[in-house]
Amino acid sequence: AIYLDYQAATPVDPRVAEAMRETMLTDFANPSSDDHALGWKAHQRVELARAAIADAFGAAWGGLIFTSGATEGNNIAILGGARNAPPERRRVLISAIEHKAVLEAASALAAEGYDIERLPVDTSGCLDLDVLEALEGTTVAVISVMAVNNETGVVQPVRAVAQWAKRHGVFFHCDATQAPLAMEVDLSSWGVDAASLSSHKIYGPKGIGVLYLADDRPWTPRPLTFGGGQEQSIRPGTLPTPLCVGFATASMLVSREGAAERERVASLRDSFVASLRDLDPGLRLTAPSGDRHPGNAHVVFSRADAADLLALLQPVVAASLGSACTSGVIGPSHVLTAMGVSDSDASRCVRFSLGRFSDAAQLAEASHAIAKALNKQRGRALPA
Ligand code: PLP
Repeated sequence: AIYLDYQAATPVDPRVAEAMRETMLTDFANPSSDDHALGWKAHQRVELARAAIADAFGAAWGGLIFTSGATEGNNIAILGGARNAPPERRRVLISAIEHKAVLEAASALAAEGYDIERLPVDTSGCLDLDVLEALEGTTVAVISVMAVNNETGVVQPVRAVAQWAKRHGVFFHCDATQAPLAMEVDLSSWGVDAASLSSHKIYGPKGIGVLYLADDRPWTPRPLTFGGGQEQSIRPGTLPTPLCVGFATASMLVSREGAAERERVASLRDSFVASLRDLDPGLRLTAPSGDRHPGNAHVVFSRADAADLLALLQPVVAASLGSACTSGVIGPSHVLTAMGVSDSDASRCVRFSLGRFSDAAQLAEASHAIAKALNKQRGRALPA
């Protein structure tokens, strides 16, 4: 199959798998066991991994909390961040295009008496900063705005949000899950108070991520779970040494090879979109302007029904209707609705996402398969 769903999950890089295999077989002791040398060694592997991840993404070594992934990081930052805010701060701001792991975490706070406000985006899928600038922030506990949207690939104005949050003393969390493959990530200079990252979006294993906490954050999120005191008691539980090492290896590779890779992938993506346009001259990008994830091709076909098209492409091409995490939900995605995309246009949207192991031959094969599927949909026989 031709895999074009990198934004849902990336394949594990063989170099990551090799590092994990070795760790799993060798450093099996509990990294919290401080009574013997095998425990010390596992602990050392975990801390070296933490240092490598911090180094790759511009964080202080002590500012990274291992989590099970970005969903958990988002939940700790939003629920825990709001719960530890001063009592007069009872509002939570999120952008209208956040991932479910942010939307649902914020919604859960409504039951605790917080007011949840969704910030609008413009038609290019970018947060409307004028609306934010006009907001009074002294009663806001937490603002959460993502770095890069997982459906459209649109890069969000994180530094501007950070400046607003600083001015108003608001805890700023950024869901940076899709950022490492889209841009250089330098968390300290972004000015965020917290950020979530996930290993399986950067060629690492599933089930691990980090929550970054800046030294100068206005307060620390309250823990959601309680246990043996690991991870500064913010996220206790035995650390999975092989997953930590896998995530670290993946982070190192992204920081070393990312710049060249982004350039290569963007150029492949652009030729792929051009080839789709040859098949469907009316095809357009959902977010034609502004900064975008280099591997993202989120397109609106002029006629095809997207769900039917993806079904016709099985098992040859793996792409998606939008976010894997909301698929199964009937109706247009909240991201497209927030951008003002009509329901009819939304039903013709497909997200193709490319990455490290994509190449021109695969994309040519994918275009060919898409041509066949489109022809089938139009009820015409394929010319030989
Ligand atoms: N946030 C964004 C923007 C995502 O794309 C994803 C991916 O599914 C998540 C959060 C959830 O991350 P995880 O699968 O690590 O829980």
